[in-house]
Amino acid sequence: MKLYIEGDINEYYAQTLCMLFFPGAKFSHDEELTEKSDVVRLSLIETDNGVTATAEMRSGGKTAIKERHEEYREGLTKTRTAKIAVGVAVLAAGEEIFNCTPPWGIMTGVRPAKIVAPMVREQMSSAEIRNVLCRDYFLNPKKAALLTEIAKKEAKIIKKTPQNSCSVYISIPFCPSRCTYCSFVSYSTKRLLSLIDDYLVKIQNDIDLMFGKIKDLGLSVATVYIGGGTPTVLSARQLTQLLAKITENLDPATLLEFTCEAGRPDTVTAEKMKVIKSYGVTRVSVNPQTLNDMVLESIGRKHTTEDFFRAYNTARESGIKYINTDLIAGLPEESFSSFSDSVDRILKLRPDNVTFHTFCVKKAAEILKSGSNVYSRTGGETGKSVDYSQIAAGLAGYKPYYIYRQKNTVGNFENVGYALEGAEGLYNIYMMEEVHSVIGAGAGAVTKLVSKDRSVIKRFAMPKYPYEYLGSKDSRSEIFRDRDAAMEEFAREYL
Ligand code: SF4
Repeated sequence: MKLYIEGDINEYYAQTLCMLFFPGAKFSHDEELTEKSDVVRLSLIETDNGVTATAEMRSGGKTAIKERHEEYREGLTKTRTAKIAVGVAVLAAGEEIFNCTPPWGIMTGVRPAKIVAPMVREQMSSAEIRNVLCRDYFLNPKKAALLTEIAKKEAKIIKKTPQNSCSVYISIPFCPSRCTYCSFVSYSTKRLLSLIDDYLVKIQNDIDLMFGKIKDLGLSVATVYIGGGTPTVLSARQLTQLLAKITENLDPATLLEFTCEAGRPDTVTAEKMKVIKSYGVTRVSVNPQTLNDMVLESIGRKHTTEDFFRAYNTARESGIKYINTDLIAGLPEESFSSFSDSVDRILKLRPDNVTFHTFCVKKAAEILKSGSNVYSRTGGETGKSVDYSQIAAGLAGYKPYYIYRQKNTVGNFENVGYALEGAEGLYNIYMMEEVHSVIGAGAGAVTKLVSKDRSVIKRFAMPKYPYEYLGSKDSRSEIFRDRDAAMEEFAREYL
């Protein structure tokens, strides 16, 4: 699509706003402008008392032009005022052309609870916060209430974060097969899975160096998260090797949570769960995504509903303290009735956590190559599915405790984690709300360094592909040195 900007408007913000109405849009400067092109022209001018934004939107033979004047108000920066003016103009134009209202208004970021956190710190009441969210961000009142509840819950948990702590992320980017909607770099063919043993040798070195640096900097490790990919694609022997290396570096006195993803039910065995439990893992996630076999097949999950129940019971019987599960609303070919049935059956199992995602397709996903139109502005029955999951979880005694959003999500909905009281996943909150540093080992792992007052964040990424990661020289190879140096430099200034 074509996006034209005049005036001081952040281009990324403008693109994200456009994607509310043009999901999956690609913003090309080279694309030729034709009669059929989707076009948005935005302009912003400063006036004596505020700013005036104009949005002209053209799509499918329809054109809408909307203007919004925002006066400067006490407590709102000029940038924020401009964002509101532009956002509201785009919203009004999109609503006229497409006859739909995005549930999250002009709130476009990945971490909506971060916007609310300062309001909670200022001890604003829930009603006041909801009011701001509806007035300045144009949230649907239902979403404003959800976000307020989550931010308040998070604030209580964040308050208890140990001083000078950090979290650790260990990346195992291998999976038994590739889901069609996946955009992660995760190796899944037989040839690539044969790299696992070499990968383990490399990552053990990485783990030692990473923990060594964490100790040097005087940080304690509060949570460890082994993610992927699917870490349980490793054999029991390989898991033993990995977990032994991690635990020899851990101080049980400071560790609050130890998670290992077991996302794909087809990788879960009693032997692996026994190994995982024996090394002190406190939380595993077993994710069906849906309990509809036809949908599972269509998204390339290579496991059945029956496999999920078997894997879930195996995880439960192992005695691992907390079990997480994930469901995705809005999957292709999923109806409201089959999704709500999945929700009911999952809640009946009483997992400690359940995260309800909304289907989101990223550019690298296989499913896009099939030519199927997976993007959806309104999401059809997905809104009803999302509502159902949230109401049913609440009625079953679960409370929402973390939230994130992504671009190109069906219907512009959200992803929300629910937990039984006291069973909240700390890593999810620490990572999502950028509470403290998360140090990553392994291919694709991103180290995110967060200053003590949480105002400065610096990222450092490991090579994305396992081949590249393996290719970096052994022992104190450059990449590990770079991460260590980044940590040292950041610590000198901000920790
Ligand atoms: S299990 Fe997860 S990481 Fe692996 S292919 Fe499927 S979506 Fe991607």
